[in-house]
Amino acid sequence: MSQRPVFQCQQCGDCCAGRGGIFVRPEEVAAMAALLEMGEEEFRDRYLEPSSLGTRLAITDGVCVFLQDNRCRVHPVKPFICRQWPYLPVLLADEDEFEAAKGACPGLDPEGSHKDFVEESRKLNES
Ligand code: SF4
Ligand code: SF4
Repeated sequence: MSQRPVFQCQQCGDCCAGRGGIFVRPEEVAAMAALLEMGEEEFRDRYLEPSSLGTRLAITDGVCVFLQDNRCRVHPVKPFICRQWPYLPVLLADEDEFEAAKGACPGLDPEGSHKDFVEESRKLNES
């Protein structure tokens, strides 16, 4: 494995553009609603939208509805997909998807190998 990490976040905020859809689970909706001190129904009306792949966070002005001044308003309880990025199952399983993700996330080393990326994820899960 190379010395340089394959992934090192550059804090650009681009992943909060939600291009692929920021999908949420019921328990995540409950946690975010509680953090914002509002009922789940109101939360759903204001911040969620349906899609063919599942319920996701709404996008306003081209970014996630919770991105404010480049910070996440629900950071302590943000959805699993946000916490997991870029070590998503699809990127770990599919080298082509991993290579494609390099174009969307400047935190991914363009020279980084898929093998090292998978190894990095494994080590993070162990720690
Ligand atoms: S797009 Fe990548 S580098 Fe930019 S904030 Fe998201 S994870 Fe970090
Ligand atoms: S919930 Fe937070 S971390 Fe996730 S996309 Fe929205 S602003 Fe970004």
